[in-house]
Amino acid sequence: MERGTLRQTLITKTGIFFLAVLFLPRLLNAQESIGIAASGHRIFNLDETMNILYAANDKERKEFHWDPFFREGSFTVGGHYGAFSTAFSAGKSGFLMVDNRDIYTVPLPYEDRGELVFPEPFVNTIREAFTRSMSEDSSHYRIAAIIIDPGHGGKDPGAVSKHTANGKPLNVNEKDIVLNASRQLRDVLVRAYPDKRILMTRESDITCSLEERTAIANAVPIRKNEAIIYISIHANFSKDKNAKGFEVWHLRPDYRRDVLDQSLFSDSPELRKIMNLLTEEAFIAESIKIAASILDSLKATMGKTMPSRGLKEEDWFVVRRSRMPAVLVELGFVSNKDDAVLMTTDTHLHKLVEALYKGIAEFVGDFERSRGFIVSR
Ligand SMILES: [Zn+2]
Repeated sequence: MERGTLRQTLITKTGIFFLAVLFLPRLLNAQESIGIAASGHRIFNLDETMNILYAANDKERKEFHWDPFFREGSFTVGGHYGAFSTAFSAGKSGFLMVDNRDIYTVPLPYEDRGELVFPEPFVNTIREAFTRSMSEDSSHYRIAAIIIDPGHGGKDPGAVSKHTANGKPLNVNEKDIVLNASRQLRDVLVRAYPDKRILMTRESDITCSLEERTAIANAVPIRKNEAIIYISIHANFSKDKNAKGFEVWHLRPDYRRDVLDQSLFSDSPELRKIMNLLTEEAFIAESIKIAASILDSLKATMGKTMPSRGLKEEDWFVVRRSRMPAVLVELGFVSNKDDAVLMTTDTHLHKLVEALYKGIAEFVGDFERSRGFIVSR
């Protein structure tokens, strides 16, 4: 192998020596020249390490910096960097921090006869982190999670009604209908999107406060380029027994809420206000799209069996606290006999669920083909 062929520059800066090794155009065969450290790891010199890290990225800016005074260094490729400290001898572990975000514990680089050497697990970790970060850069926006929220539950039955159908008493509880529909919807979505997280705010007949529901939703971690959507499922009630059909609700476009995480822009209230507004408007715009997509799908699937009551907007319902695009679907009226019979009939409920799924899928497809919307939580 070749050694000492790096262009090394010593720069004096604020009294500290920086060793900056910039861009390495040559390709070495890293396999030829492997040392074995006392710890049993393969070790690579700087030349080899840079070849391994940078071989696949010929267009990006590549840099290596090492500060021998503080014994800290960094590798940079494109807009990504891995910062680390170095040890005096082999076998010490420490932190590798990538993009100021991900921290790994790795065997640290150390000096061996005046030359920095890099243990293989260190090199592999930083290479994998760079590969991940670069693929995130180019990846499309995606819906990472879909949260299904069956309304009511436990002590809260929601809308309740008694009918007589086919000569038999029919007692309808909103909480049971929406749980049944939500479970079916969950199963369909899990099959359709094995790579997305499909979550429910409740999976059984339990009492669940609005705060608990939205806390579940807001706690889902998402990465850059990812978004979550929230679908709340209810059944309707009216004193007018003739009122029937489905409707889909979204927030009123002028409704204002705090959608940003508390930690963001905490030192600049003005900027925070502006960012909050932009994010919120994006969430509401997307909420309207999801609502329209679900309503269209319900109309197409249900045909004449159930009338559409259209899109509705409100500022008080469950989704007002969630920091993501959110809609609420009213499947039908428990107070109306026809709707009550349909919603408690398996074949009909399947059709409603299918319609919800198609509406969601249509939105997800559009979203993931497009550039998405602002996601700042
Ligand atoms: Zn309800």
